[in-house]
Amino acid sequence: MSNVASKTLALTEELITLSSVTPEDKGCQERMAELLAPLGFACETIQSGAVTNLWARRGDAQPLLVFAGHTDVVPTGPLDKWTSNPFQPTHRDGKLYGRGAADMKTSLAAMVVAVEEFVAAHPDHKGSIGFLITSDEEGPATDGTVVVCEQLKARGEQLDYCIVGEPTSVTHLGDMIKNGRRGTMSGKLVIKGIQGHIAYPHMAKNPIHLAMPALAALAIEKWDEGNDYYAPTSWQMSNIHAGTGASNVIPGECVVDFNFRFSTASTVEGLQQRVCALLDQHSLDYDLRWTVGGLPFLTPRGSLSSALSEAILSETGITTELSTAGGTSDGRFIAQICPQVIEFGPTNASIHQIDENIVIADIDPLKNIYRRTMENLLLS
Ligand SMILES: [Zn+2]
Repeated sequence: MSNVASKTLALTEELITLSSVTPEDKGCQERMAELLAPLGFACETIQSGAVTNLWARRGDAQPLLVFAGHTDVVPTGPLDKWTSNPFQPTHRDGKLYGRGAADMKTSLAAMVVAVEEFVAAHPDHKGSIGFLITSDEEGPATDGTVVVCEQLKARGEQLDYCIVGEPTSVTHLGDMIKNGRRGTMSGKLVIKGIQGHIAYPHMAKNPIHLAMPALAALAIEKWDEGNDYYAPTSWQMSNIHAGTGASNVIPGECVVDFNFRFSTASTVEGLQQRVCALLDQHSLDYDLRWTVGGLPFLTPRGSLSSALSEAILSETGITTELSTAGGTSDGRFIAQICPQVIEFGPTNASIHQIDENIVIADIDPLKNIYRRTMENLLLS
């Protein structure tokens, strides 16, 4: 198929032109709704603060398959570093350049066109199709998917399958899908000592010296072994600070920031207890404040992963790999109301970078994979 004939490419370009730097939507969702409404979707805008969210549903039968994603993009960074304007879709060497090309406007366009094709061919398909789109994924993610999920839950809306269009492919389109994401939890630890003159250590209490054995023990602790889907939980220190700046003063406290990326083999409470137990073993006087950034989720192999894997294999010949690696995503919110959530989208090598791009030849196959997945799930 020539580029000119690709409706998905044209829609991707249209969406890139709308400069929806987080949390702005800049009309992306309106454009999507304009295309979905004639297909029989009831489209609803759910505003929360500065954030625009779209919930659209076609049909009222189960199972409900939802396509999820975000219209917001990360800031461009210095414009003069870009080879072409990030909001002016540009073709070079078989690639489409623009902010959001990979993360994730191509996925949004591919989902919409895939649904158009599927509904045209199978107007009486079983179940329902939904879209859950936010403009607050790249930002604090407090007014976006989480808000929509709470509303859907309150209404008793039952989701059965959800495909999140995050760019999960690594080298080739289809080589990786994400069936879970690790949780993230941070801690701010203040180890207390007594400030004093460095020449009179017996009159002070050095929090750096007190902290070191405990931190060493935390650093080598094995938190879990992981499981069939997850690598072991990891604990890392990100910041450590003590000292007044003077070389003759024992400081009064030592502040340590750390972060867990944890698997479903551990729990928030379990990890917190173990950290405190370890600090207590070292008889430390400390304050510890926790921030849970996101809970882990896991979709074990099942009907959704099979439908998607088969679609990828038929379209690309690639046997996809299930992975739970990488950062957090909105999948964590959707997993609270949907038993099967899988993320799949284009290659992610250029996301958030200067000169973000996507291989043009991957665009229609991506759309076809989404369509084939619907065929696998919604035709009896
Ligand atoms: Zn994204």
